[in-house]
Amino acid sequence: MIQPVAVIGAGPYGLSAAAHLRARGIPVRAFGEPMVSWRTHMPKGMLLKSTPVASSIDAPQRGHTLADYCDDAGVPRLVTDEDIIPIETFVAYGDWFQSRLVPELERVRVVSVDRRGTEGFELKLDSGEQFTARAVVVATGLSGLSHLPPELAAAAPDGPTPTGPVSHSSQHGDLSRYEDKELLVVGAGQSSLETAVLAAEAGARVRVVARGKGAVGFGAPPWKQPKLRPESPFGRAWSLYALSYYPHPYRYLPPQARHFLVRRILGPLGAWWLRDRYEGRVTTREIAAITKSEAREGRSVLTVRTPGGRIEELAADHVIAATGYRVDVNAMGFLGPALRARLATSRGTPKLGAGYVSSVPGLYFTGMLGGSSYGPVMRFVCGTEYASPRLAGHLVRAHG
Ligand SMILES: Cc1cc2nc3c(=O)[nH]c(=O)nc-3n(C[C@H](O)[C@H](O)[C@H](O)COP(=O)(O)OP(=O)(O)OC[C@H]3O[C@@H](n4cnc5c(N)ncnc54)[C@H](O)[C@@H]3O)c2cc1C
Repeated sequence: MIQPVAVIGAGPYGLSAAAHLRARGIPVRAFGEPMVSWRTHMPKGMLLKSTPVASSIDAPQRGHTLADYCDDAGVPRLVTDEDIIPIETFVAYGDWFQSRLVPELERVRVVSVDRRGTEGFELKLDSGEQFTARAVVVATGLSGLSHLPPELAAAAPDGPTPTGPVSHSSQHGDLSRYEDKELLVVGAGQSSLETAVLAAEAGARVRVVARGKGAVGFGAPPWKQPKLRPESPFGRAWSLYALSYYPHPYRYLPPQARHFLVRRILGPLGAWWLRDRYEGRVTTREIAAITKSEAREGRSVLTVRTPGGRIEELAADHVIAATGYRVDVNAMGFLGPALRARLATSRGTPKLGAGYVSSVPGLYFTGMLGGSSYGPVMRFVCGTEYASPRLAGHLVRAHG
């Protein structure tokens, strides 16, 4: 019997990779809940920061862009940089893409993957089934990788939760639970600023706690972007252009440069359309550092060092840590210990070669899991355009 390729994950990257492999005649078994990160780990009412041209899931054949979905579904066509994408539209687009191009998706979890002898991989599913795959594509995205810095984790010894003193922004599907409450939202990225705005619009009193002077900023609207620089899905700039269209040489940069760029390029900055909703509704508190957090008499208390060096306390009913995600293969419990031991990594992230293959032949990583090898574009949906055809091409040549 021909062994299939297993694709683990049904977000934009897993769906795109599975569609490309299927189109090349490779038998694929794809696993996961479609679009679950978008459906349950992002807040209701969220709008995408990426523009329509940067928000299509790459497909092997024409007719599957976000605009194609809008036409097919009879919803207003999202095409220009001024068209803003509601999360509900993007989730529906992902479901539409899945039903057309990955119809055999299995909505089960992979509980373990390990090497099987020298060739192939043994997978166990939470349905109890066990099977062998000739190759594995890991596209598990944000799942299980939310990052809570230790100084915030200290206030929640039983783990972050929306009903406790501290939660992570990924735990909020609906911020209306904080109506009439006082909130501190930690972070200065889009996720922090949009969470703060949505909570404030739902009736919470919100302060954003951000590190550094002028830490909270917003991008320029499309009509104010500099005209003499090349256009990229993220705005006009040479660096963004290079990182969007030429991510290939990225993995040859020294590790320090790669890790720095993947964090900082396209880093903390609110979307242009969020500014008006933020100003006047949310307060910004600039700090130098959070030194401690604790729950005290039903309140969440952060001890902070101010930019002037003073120590102060900030108290609220709840703290939301919009502190992002960190790739760490050791946090990916479904990767068997023997496999993890063989995996070459750099600061916890898998080191990938051409075609997104890891140091274990037949084991591929895509999406943000490939960010430290292929750059910041891998953190965004538009990175599927570069990643999926290359990954599928490599896999077919090596294991087809
Ligand atoms: C608040 C927020 C806003 C964002 N806004 C944008 C934006 O505007 N534009 C943009 O381009 N990007 C945005 N991003 C980034 C975006 O989330 C990623 O680009 C995208 O979701 C990555 O897709 P993915 O397929 O790699 O992973 P995900 O979308 O996270 O999908 C992971 C998949 O893996 C599956 N899975 C996990 N573990 C297992 C397992 N053991 N077995 C089976 N299946 C498993 C899940 O069920 C899911 O289907 C945003 C992120 C956040 C947090």
